[in-house]
Amino acid sequence: MFGLYRPKTLEDALEFLSKNAPDVKPLAGGTELLVLIRDKKITTPKYLLDLSPLKKQLSYVKIEDGKVRIGATTTLYEISRTFLHSDVRFAGFVDTWKKFGTLAIRFSATIGGNVVAGTQYSDYATLLLAYDATVKAVSSRGERSIPLEKFILDKRIIDLRPDELVKEVEFAIPPQGSSSSFVKFDRRELLIAGIITGAFFLALEEGKIRDVKIAFDMVKGKRAPARSHEVESFLLGKTFSEDLIEKAAEEVLPTYMERITDWWTTAEYRLDMSKVALKRGLLKCKARIEKGVI
Ligand SMILES: Cc1cc2nc3c(=O)[nH]c(=O)nc-3n(C[C@H](O)[C@H](O)[C@H](O)COP(=O)(O)OP(=O)(O)OC[C@H]3O[C@@H](n4cnc5c(N)ncnc54)[C@H](O)[C@@H]3O)c2cc1C
Repeated sequence: MFGLYRPKTLEDALEFLSKNAPDVKPLAGGTELLVLIRDKKITTPKYLLDLSPLKKQLSYVKIEDGKVRIGATTTLYEISRTFLHSDVRFAGFVDTWKKFGTLAIRFSATIGGNVVAGTQYSDYATLLLAYDATVKAVSSRGERSIPLEKFILDKRIIDLRPDELVKEVEFAIPPQGSSSSFVKFDRRELLIAGIITGAFFLALEEGKIRDVKIAFDMVKGKRAPARSHEVESFLLGKTFSEDLIEKAAEEVLPTYMERITDWWTTAEYRLDMSKVALKRGLLKCKARIEKGVI
């Protein structure tokens, strides 16, 4: 059993956290947390801090100071009703939405919950890495910004102190001539686990790769979403071509990709599918940039 605290304001929530941490777990959509508690994968906390009363303050998608800002309690459904699903520069959001759990889950699950979950199955976290996003954490002691790449340290290991809440996730507005994609190979009938996922951001200028960011559900040495910087460095500044992407996938990626075998599938199959995802994802970005449609 646990107690449920329903704060009136963000300040109230932070005060409750500062007095009761580490006996409190913030509850957003509950689609990850309640399952973990039910399955006894974590110790049942003394209190759950219900974030739903903060929706007025923390649910938004907006452009401000050259940044796209997404409030932590914004649900995936709410995101799907914004420009992130109509502007080609954010096309990966549409891909991720289409491959995420079930429609019912997408109504409850929040962006904040997805990045804090911090597993290789955190699809929006993987996508946001391809946008080089930053997490804003807040506590009664103040605010701090943490690059998402440093926020997710490893599977379920997050740089978030017990008295902190995630307030928002932000990233720079991508330039014209850019787009993104998200590729997920999974077993739809089983809903949750992806065999592999990859997120790709590409900006082109006169055929040359002006910017590229690549994230996978895991890379070498990390069992959680992470960037594939070595493949990015290989591609950056070069003229985009199918041959180049083929080389990146077949020769560069395997050096920096470590895959695991589990009861879903083998490491070899995962590596092969990572190569496919890289090729498919980058070609999709290019087609989107050229056609200007998602
Ligand atoms: C059937 C099913 C299918 C799923 N499919 C997918 C899928 O396809 N892709 C995928 O990525 N995930 C999937 N998930 C996992 C889950 O839905 C996501 O991780 C979701 O985004 C979690 O968000 P939430 O709002 O429900 O978080 P919650 O469950 O409420 O919280 C998750 C964690 O984040 C913490 N937390 C939440 N908000 C904050 C905050 N603002 N500040 C600090 N801490 C916070 C909680 O304390 C908890 O530790 C699935 C889950 C289920 C049950």
